[in-house]
Amino acid sequence: MKTQPTSREPMSRRHLLKVGSTTAVAALAAGCDDFSSATKRNSVPAAVASKSKLRNVILCVSDGMSMGVPSMADDFSLLVCGRPTFWPAFMLRPGVTCGLMRTASASSMVTDSAAASSAWSTGQSVANGTLNVTPDGATYAPLAVGVGAIGKRVGLVTTDNICGATPGGFGAAVVSRHDYPSIARQYLGRVDLLLGGGREHFDPLGRKDGKNLIGQFREDGYAFFDQRSALMSAKPQDKVLGLFNEGTLPYTIDHLNDAELKRRIPSLREMTDYALRCLESAEEGFFMMIEGSRIDHAAHANDAAACLWDQLAFDDAARRAVEYALDRDDTLVILTTDHGNANPGLCGWGNKYNDSTERFKRLGAFTGSFTAIARDIKQRSSPESTAKVIQRYTGIELDETETRQVDLAVREGEPVADHNDQHRRWVGLLGQVLGNHTAVQWNGVSHTSDNVLVSAYGPYSEHFAGVHHLAHFNDLITKKWALSRASVK
Ligand SMILES: [Zn+2]
Repeated sequence: MKTQPTSREPMSRRHLLKVGSTTAVAALAAGCDDFSSATKRNSVPAAVASKSKLRNVILCVSDGMSMGVPSMADDFSLLVCGRPTFWPAFMLRPGVTCGLMRTASASSMVTDSAAASSAWSTGQSVANGTLNVTPDGATYAPLAVGVGAIGKRVGLVTTDNICGATPGGFGAAVVSRHDYPSIARQYLGRVDLLLGGGREHFDPLGRKDGKNLIGQFREDGYAFFDQRSALMSAKPQDKVLGLFNEGTLPYTIDHLNDAELKRRIPSLREMTDYALRCLESAEEGFFMMIEGSRIDHAAHANDAAACLWDQLAFDDAARRAVEYALDRDDTLVILTTDHGNANPGLCGWGNKYNDSTERFKRLGAFTGSFTAIARDIKQRSSPESTAKVIQRYTGIELDETETRQVDLAVREGEPVADHNDQHRRWVGLLGQVLGNHTAVQWNGVSHTSDNVLVSAYGPYSEHFAGVHHLAHFNDLITKKWALSRASVK
């Protein structure tokens, strides 16, 4: 496969489109067909009044999305798919408010997804690792409870394990974010629609208590899906449990490059589309959270190609949600993230930075995540084969030193003592080494304290101008929907 771009032409839109037709990029660009048709920068319709009744709220979360991610994803989309991403066009639209969110938790200036989700869900400041339980031990009912009490329906859609911290914060309250069996149980009857991964936490074979939660959900009237084909042909239902993998759903880059995964597992946009078709019939309206979870996972791994492909998948799903809101005047739609992660960026490279673009293009030829690469490396035995595996997935030829270091790190596994030791964890090391070739670099392998981007459209979207804490979202929804915010237990 030809993988190394040789041209040194200056960057232009025409040039990017031309690059997209080369053999190397076009092979991967087939994945672009899975996303929506081309978005023109100014194709969004005119504004509608934003003082209407707030019936529905859709919160779209690109988990762990540092500011460099949407920026690089837009360039990446131009290079690989020949069109820009949706989010920048959305931000330019009249009636859309953009701002920043602070993310600190009760225990650290650097939040995790559990504390961030809790802030959105209950407005409470909790310690990292907990869902809606404050440091003094008070447990708060998650947003799903209050929303359900006023007759609205609740949907959670994610590429993560559905019991993961971000969806978990909206439907459960637990001391540990990893108490998946309890989170799964708390969803029953409280969340109307659940789509994502994490089947093992509902299956008697995967649960320590042996409970058949899938059976209990069915008895409670939930339609159950575990295959993409069934979801795609299903009529809208009032109550839905869709679990398409034992754990998290695959990275988009692996999903696009594996026919079996594509056949079995829906994309985030497909799940979003089905969820909206189910929830739009809700008499009193709905709250829905849509999470692209693997942007965060890829950032922890310093895996640039996986991160960018998942951001494109998130962008595509968010576009579906925005289009729903644009057709009406009663739906607040928010695009944001819960925290930054490893702050990636395309760096200046070479004389006058003239090598940056050429290096960045190489990401378009990647055909697998670091998870796929590591799986293949571990099946082999010599440093030479490590180099071959990396070349097969990335088109990049590592030098001898790079190969030796990566091979050693992969085989040694994860050091446990220092979470952010980027140069000892194989994923951080591989990310750094490949960054020599792609010009994408990272500041570590963990979350950051940076303020994060938020864009909002619909009733009360103007409240997101300026800089607020994540809890501001809960303040607004609680007030406008007159929700009770009492602690429970
Ligand atoms: Zn994370």
